[in-house]
Amino acid sequence: MSIISATNATKVYQSGDKELRALDGVDVSVDPGEFAAVVGPSGSGKSTLLNLLGLLDEPSDGSVTVDGVALSSLSKRERTDLRRETVGFIFQSFYLVPTLTARENVAIPGLVRSDRERLIERADDLLTRVGLGDRLDHYPNELSGGQKQRVAVARSMINDPDILLADEPTGNLDQNTGAQVLDVFDEFTDEGVAILTVTHDEQVTDFADRTIRLVDGMIQDA
Ligand code: ADP
Ligand code: MG
Repeated sequence: MSIISATNATKVYQSGDKELRALDGVDVSVDPGEFAAVVGPSGSGKSTLLNLLGLLDEPSDGSVTVDGVALSSLSKRERTDLRRETVGFIFQSFYLVPTLTARENVAIPGLVRSDRERLIERADDLLTRVGLGDRLDHYPNELSGGQKQRVAVARSMINDPDILLADEPTGNLDQNTGAQVLDVFDEFTDEGVAILTVTHDEQVTDFADRTIRLVDGMIQDA
């Protein structure tokens, strides 16, 4: 039973009088504990797909189901709640808050549901797992690109998501640090988390259980 799926997912953008099919009938699903990688050239629809699966956007046609719930059956509010409870997101450009420490950046999205003390403990544990146990009180401008990316990885897990969606999670990392993040992903999948990541990094596709190729908004059979 997949935890997340898109069926015939289609996204059409209107630009002037022309239609642009960013996604054109994509079927994809990920099981609990599975690590799937999406690859494809720039403009092939990877981020669009990730945004649909992450409930950040709605398809023009087709359906998205997360944790057994069809997106189309949800109000905006319900969608936000389901996303917060179920989905962790690692954005390509991190979006760390510059005035907060690494620890606070990781803990913040959990504030709505946990007490402060437990949250800080979990933030510290997650930061330690991504190799930043000695950077808890550093601010983003005191961290390298790779370290910021690892803060974003830790933050994505603060609410114990069932699904982790990641846009180029190793994009700014050297080989060793990338491998470290992949080891952490491996631990997450052992705990039953489903991971879908968009990537150009061959280290990631080597590591993934399955690679999905997108070209012009369509899945290309291997
Ligand atoms: P990728 O992540 O694979 O580089 P995207 O999913 O970002 O590709 O974009 C797929 C296509 O959709 C591209 O041609 C892009 O220009 C177009 N596109 C993405 N977002 C929008 C938007 N908000 N409005 C119009 N066109 C868009
Ligand atoms: Mg993209």
